Amino acid sequence: MIFQKKGELELCKWDIFSGYKNLIAYFSTRKAGFSAGAYDSLNLGVSAGDLKENVINNRKKFFHTINIPENETVWVKQVHGNNIITAERAGNLGVGDGLITGVSGLFLCGTFADCASIMVFEPKKQIVGLFHAGWKGVFQQIAKKGIKKICRVYNIQPDNLLVGISPHIKKCCFIVKKNVAELFNERFLRTNNKEHWNLDIENAVIEQLINVDIKRENIEKSCFCTSCNKEMFFSYRRDKGKTGRMLAVIGTRK
Ligand SMILES: [Zn+2]
Repeated sequence: MIFQKKGELELCKWDIFSGYKNLIAYFSTRKAGFSAGAYDSLNLGVSAGDLKENVINNRKKFFHTINIPENETVWVKQVHGNNIITAERAGNLGVGDGLITGVSGLFLCGTFADCASIMVFEPKKQIVGLFHAGWKGVFQQIAKKGIKKICRVYNIQPDNLLVGISPHIKKCCFIVKKNVAELFNERFLRTNNKEHWNLDIENAVIEQLINVDIKRENIEKSCFCTSCNKEMFFSYRRDKGKTGRMLAVIGTRK
């Protein structure tokens, strides 16, 4: 994963997706937007409490910079579930935490402030997917469910899929209480006192991916923890709920 300067923006890109010139796959940082205060500055989430006008301008700037018309973007209302929607058109497609499409010129979008975005690309048939994974999504096996669905709908093989995981809150900073910890295998937990646990959602996601036959070498982890990197990222937990959102986008150009 690298930061790439594009116009005024600094964006995250995955090495595993480089070399596919039709593929657009970015994760935004908080740099170079119009918002102020807790939302400083590139807040791309409309329902985070920021001024609507600033978010609209931030989105315009973001999509203009990456050269995607906003009317070709696809959205869902994310609810920390595991519903995955097949996108055949742009716009808001309802409630869900995953989107898949085989339509080039459609760009799947999601907003994030600690949860991981799981970005999926199949180069031969040019299929893409985007899954939203916080602890609730991981517990509901969104990664496994998403891969199974994308393979079934588009008749593709998991060993052809490339997966990039976005910046998210990592085990260094993601502290949970017993009620959450007990939902996860101890492989993904560390504790000193049995009152608080550090939860590793990234490796829990990777285990789900491996279990549905994604090749380990086709998975690229995130280098960055959103909570550790205040300069670059919003973090819902670090900022105690009052914060902006980064945006993940994936799609192929016509
Ligand atoms: Zn951290």
